[in-house]
Amino acid sequence: MEIATVFVVVLWVFSVGGAESKYMVYNTSQGIVPDKLNVHLVPHTHDDVGWLKTVDQYYVGSNNSIQGACVQNVLDSLVPALLADKNRKFIYVEMAFFERWWKDQSEAVQQTVKQLVSSGQLEFINGGMCMHDEAATHYIDMIEQTTLGHHFIKQEFGVTPRIGWQIDPFGHSAVQAYLLGAEIGFDSLFFGRIDYQDRAKRKNEKSLEVVWRGSKSLGSSGQIFAGAFPENYEPPSGFYFEVNAASPIVQDDPTLFDYNVQERVEDFVAAALSQANITRTNHIMFTMGTDFKYQYAHTWFRQMDKLIHYVNIDGRVNALYSTPSIYTDAKHATEKSWPIKTEDFFPYADRAHGYWTGYFTSRPAIKRYVRMMSGYYLAARQLEFFKGRNKSGSNTDLLADALAIAQHHDAVTGTEKQHVANDYAKRLSIGYVEAEKVASSSLACLVDSKSCTGGGSAKTEFQQCPLLNISYCPPSEIDFSNGKNLIVVVYNALGWKREDVIRIPVMHEDVTVRDSAGRVIESQVLPLTENRISLRNYHVKAYLGQSPSKTPEYLLAFSASVPPIGFNTYTISRAKTKGASSARSSLHLLQRGDKSTLEVGHENLKLTFSAEEGKLTHYINSRSSVKESVQQSFSYYSGYNGSDESPQSSGAYVFRPNGTFLIKPAKKDILTVIRGPIIDEVHQQINPWIYQINRLHKGKEHVEVEFTVGPIPVEDRIGKEVATQITTNMETNKIFYTDSNGRDFIKRIRDYRTDWDLKVNEPAAGNYYPINLGIYIGDNKTELSVLVDRAVGGSSIVDGQIELMLHRRLLRDDSKGVDEALNETVCIDNKCKGLTIQGKYYYRIDPVGEGAKWRRTAGQEIYSPFLLALTEEGEDNWMSSHVPTYSAIDSSYTLPDNVAIITLQELENRKVLLRLAHLYEIGEDKDLSTMTEVELKKLFPGKKIAKVVEMNLSANQERSEMEKKRLAWKVEEESLEESQMTSRGRAVDPAKLVVELAPMEIRTLVVDFDETFSPQVFDA
Ligand SMILES: [Zn+2]
Repeated sequence: MEIATVFVVVLWVFSVGGAESKYMVYNTSQGIVPDKLNVHLVPHTHDDVGWLKTVDQYYVGSNNSIQGACVQNVLDSLVPALLADKNRKFIYVEMAFFERWWKDQSEAVQQTVKQLVSSGQLEFINGGMCMHDEAATHYIDMIEQTTLGHHFIKQEFGVTPRIGWQIDPFGHSAVQAYLLGAEIGFDSLFFGRIDYQDRAKRKNEKSLEVVWRGSKSLGSSGQIFAGAFPENYEPPSGFYFEVNAASPIVQDDPTLFDYNVQERVEDFVAAALSQANITRTNHIMFTMGTDFKYQYAHTWFRQMDKLIHYVNIDGRVNALYSTPSIYTDAKHATEKSWPIKTEDFFPYADRAHGYWTGYFTSRPAIKRYVRMMSGYYLAARQLEFFKGRNKSGSNTDLLADALAIAQHHDAVTGTEKQHVANDYAKRLSIGYVEAEKVASSSLACLVDSKSCTGGGSAKTEFQQCPLLNISYCPPSEIDFSNGKNLIVVVYNALGWKREDVIRIPVMHEDVTVRDSAGRVIESQVLPLTENRISLRNYHVKAYLGQSPSKTPEYLLAFSASVPPIGFNTYTISRAKTKGASSARSSLHLLQRGDKSTLEVGHENLKLTFSAEEGKLTHYINSRSSVKESVQQSFSYYSGYNGSDESPQSSGAYVFRPNGTFLIKPAKKDILTVIRGPIIDEVHQQINPWIYQINRLHKGKEHVEVEFTVGPIPVEDRIGKEVATQITTNMETNKIFYTDSNGRDFIKRIRDYRTDWDLKVNEPAAGNYYPINLGIYIGDNKTELSVLVDRAVGGSSIVDGQIELMLHRRLLRDDSKGVDEALNETVCIDNKCKGLTIQGKYYYRIDPVGEGAKWRRTAGQEIYSPFLLALTEEGEDNWMSSHVPTYSAIDSSYTLPDNVAIITLQELENRKVLLRLAHLYEIGEDKDLSTMTEVELKKLFPGKKIAKVVEMNLSANQERSEMEKKRLAWKVEEESLEESQMTSRGRAVDPAKLVVELAPMEIRTLVVDFDETFSPQVFDA
């Protein structure tokens, strides 16, 4: 009461003072006041890089009947609004938009904006091209898209973003916290969406703000201050000030009606005190903005000016213009200790039946396309470096942009409208075409043994086969009868030598494969089954617009052995003598009911199938003495169609099943068995819309499962979410492990959360986790690991079992904003049917504790498959006139088994950006979870390294600078010893040039060469 009296008196004084002129100067200059509750007003806009509209439509403000959103308006109106008062502040996040806008501005506007940035009025936060998703993204893509945005900011403004701002993604990953947070050099990370049960508990305990230690291996050296917002990323209720918003504005002109200063100040103070009640320290943040707001920035700033002015006259709390940086510094200055948080914030539920775990799998084709392009981009940039970057002609920039945008939290997630999904795919395709030219021409230079760095071009013209997944590869489908040979150059982007089986469609059965020394090597022709042919012909017509002119009947398989970061060449020709021909596969059909048992496999690994039951029964590895009873099955969840009592439907975001149904193989089911010296396959038509191949390769000890699912029938008006299960007898006691963005594995316990007592409302959906690399289970004898070829959702719903969700087709929108059912189709001549998905997963069973080696090595091989470049040869002898085999690294050298090169990219002035990643966590493998080293001199033979500078992860500052600046945070209840238990590689010695890597460490280096030493990048 007393305070209110004072308030009225002060107001009266002001009213008198303003009588002469109505022009009002608001005092917005208030900074932090140490002994008051400080309310940090953070003006922001959340601009989705595609969602209901495409990225271009959002930028220019077209297609407004879908959503009135125009980013150009936001940025245009921001500049005068900030200039009007130097105390006003704003943050901007998504560089995909900002970069478009920047290029449109005059030099004068650019100068003004540069001043706004250097004065701190405009601050870049997060600063990637988009605000990437954290569930369906691979860590390499997260790093690359952040690097791209940070590079732009550094180049144009000379600044480095300090704060992570992941306010909208649907759950938060450990990799985001430590890798894309601490290792970037961020001082804090803020986000909006955590589980509603978790949030309630954290509010109670004032633990929404924590120190998040995302990596077991990097410990406190990879920790970051992290804050979950109390509700979402919007202002407190009643403080929305967009042009047409319903919140009451502050009307402070006493000569007009509806004067309401006192009420508005009361509302503000009430909102502040309520938030202060659940927040530690005397600093709270109001996130003043939401999706695509500030299209007329004055409306927001005018109200905030007034609120700051009158609230501070009132004096109960202190209101100020702020940014997340100022807020973070204020929190840090309190010198408080914070609760510690480990692991991640998955899965995310916003209510009892609202588990956002459907999007882990939604739009599986886009997810696969993004992953394929990601691996391709890595390889193409290596090749781009060997050849020398081309600024004017084809380069990898378009693919980089398309991939960056595709990481947005409504892109790879599958939560965008269909036309927007099409837009992402189109951009990837355009980017791919350019990158393919780079890869082909670089390989051509290498095989022609001429350097192309001087601008010369090679004779050889290579073609590639991006549709090999549907057995479509025109350059390999040639007629050998006229004496032509097919040359296949196989490029390996990994830092170690590898062998993998290649399969390409061919027209003839009697072919020979020769290696680079001209020796005939073992090969096998497999019949292209009817099912594969119809899949191929339909999708070639659907995607390329015309049916293929011919239909190959065979797939040729052979094992290619390729040196590290290099290639090997194989020649395929018509067999001249019978003995030199590829082995033909045996083919036989096992009818259901046959009493026989079928065994397939080559050396160590065998699978047995029961013909009687038509299914897999055992997995036997004679080398490791693993014999495990294994079954494999399909099921579907019927999608819940929201009712009045419980409106939540299953949709693009949310997985809400209404029962689960086993898909029983048809009674007349047969097993088609194809066997040969390199590949054994067991084909099964599970039902009219599920086809499966179990494939075993000679020399490999894992099973490759290729599935074709769709069109999912919905004639019964029920949406379906199709899952597969691998079931063993392992006693797994509710425990399973899933990866975080393809990197660290996190222990999951069914129906349990580390941070709170879980109330289980959704026994399936609430136990689903995102998978990008793999999932595994184990008991005291064995462990089962499954690796995936794209982001999927998965779980262990039953002990001893791993489940993956493969495909979803749903008929209802799930009310999270996209306003479309997830019902993907594919069309020919406007005749559409449900989308068919083809994909692979890989599994292996090892003695307990021995699975990590395969998970990590095979995981890299799946991410970076061989890149094939094909050409026809006439009369010449290819091998004598070309370079048949090549490795970019020293011939005596290979990268250690626990290290991968995740970036090798040419920068300006022939400098190179190199990222080396240790692939193992602490304690993951007895031999490989150790400090390891890479010899740079051997990575770049024939070149003299002039200088190596270690950078932060996004390469926008030197690592030493970053470490000097970065804030250190105190953690509650921790011994000094615990806080120092981190191991990292030492600084790179400029003479030895050896890079040490500790478990899970990624080191980012800029390597500068002395080009006078050797102008030739590669000499044969
Ligand atoms: Zn968003």
